[in-house]
Amino acid sequence: MSIADAFGRPLRNLRVSVTDRCNLRCQYCMPEEHYVWLPRADILSFEEIGRLVDCFTDLGVDRVRLTGGEPLMRHDLPLLVRQLAAKPALRDLALTSNGVLLAEQAAALAAAGLRRVTVSLDTLRPDRFQALTRRAGLDQVLNGIAAAGAAGLRPLKLDTVVMRGINDDELIDLIEYGKTVAAEVRFIEYMDVGGATHWSAERVYPRASILDDLARRYGAIAALREESAAPAERYRLPDGTVFGIIASTTAPFCRACDRARLTADGMWYLCLYARAGIDLRAALRRGATREELAALITGGWQARHDRGAEERVVHRDRAPLLPASELRKDPHLEMHTRGG
Ligand code: SF4
Repeated sequence: MSIADAFGRPLRNLRVSVTDRCNLRCQYCMPEEHYVWLPRADILSFEEIGRLVDCFTDLGVDRVRLTGGEPLMRHDLPLLVRQLAAKPALRDLALTSNGVLLAEQAAALAAAGLRRVTVSLDTLRPDRFQALTRRAGLDQVLNGIAAAGAAGLRPLKLDTVVMRGINDDELIDLIEYGKTVAAEVRFIEYMDVGGATHWSAERVYPRASILDDLARRYGAIAALREESAAPAERYRLPDGTVFGIIASTTAPFCRACDRARLTADGMWYLCLYARAGIDLRAALRRGATREELAALITGGWQARHDRGAEERVVHRDRAPLLPASELRKDPHLEMHTRGG
């Protein structure tokens, strides 16, 4: 069975956050000194996550990506991976990580049935990594990427948020590094979502500039023609290297968006920019049946008309979506709670 929203978009992709905690403090996601965390008692157990995933797969979801915060901070994550990997309805089970703990866990995750991983990598320079994330750890991330490849977690992708004046001079270094680890690099435009309280339009390094820089170094770039709801547009360099650009700020792709997000405490968000979500934890813990949960999800999705990023494009004098004072009132508004 599949369900469609108010614009006819199916529900296919579910991003499941397993924790709101993170061991880094990236400037574009967690720039503040202090955060309000989700209460521990509200965090879904693996069994509860599994039950909700079953409801979603009943309704057409066939791709799940585990996110955080940093998902590898959740204890015993391979147990959840094993449980989800055994579900025949899931065609794709992936993980997004900052890579810091990946070297320790890659083999166990692969053995549990994880198929692929995307690692965030915004810089290859240790001093810049420290400034961007407010933590040390670039070596650990690079070791984690190597371990993921060695464990067979492929295709391996590296996500880079490009910020003007911060890391826009590393595009070529990142492409070259990606070649050495057989990973596809994806450049992401800096977004003004919750958590990005230091965002400014001047800091966005747009797709056109990324393509110009790479073409100047490598020569003509070919766009790949692909029918896909995936956010990245993919390109090929003359030497065959493929890379992606996620132009979520200047050229959003809401019209094909089949993604929803489940927070670690069971709130279901239909858009990265949505102010409110649907509380699936409350229904689950009240004893709702699989059918009742499916009805709740169906009603929510069918009423969905979100196109958050497209609506933001038309704003002149665009500023961060929410001030830190708003975010402190409800941690669900944070990008690190929604899994980016
Ligand atoms: S802004 Fe919302 S609707 Fe648009 S692509 Fe992102 S999650 Fe989907």
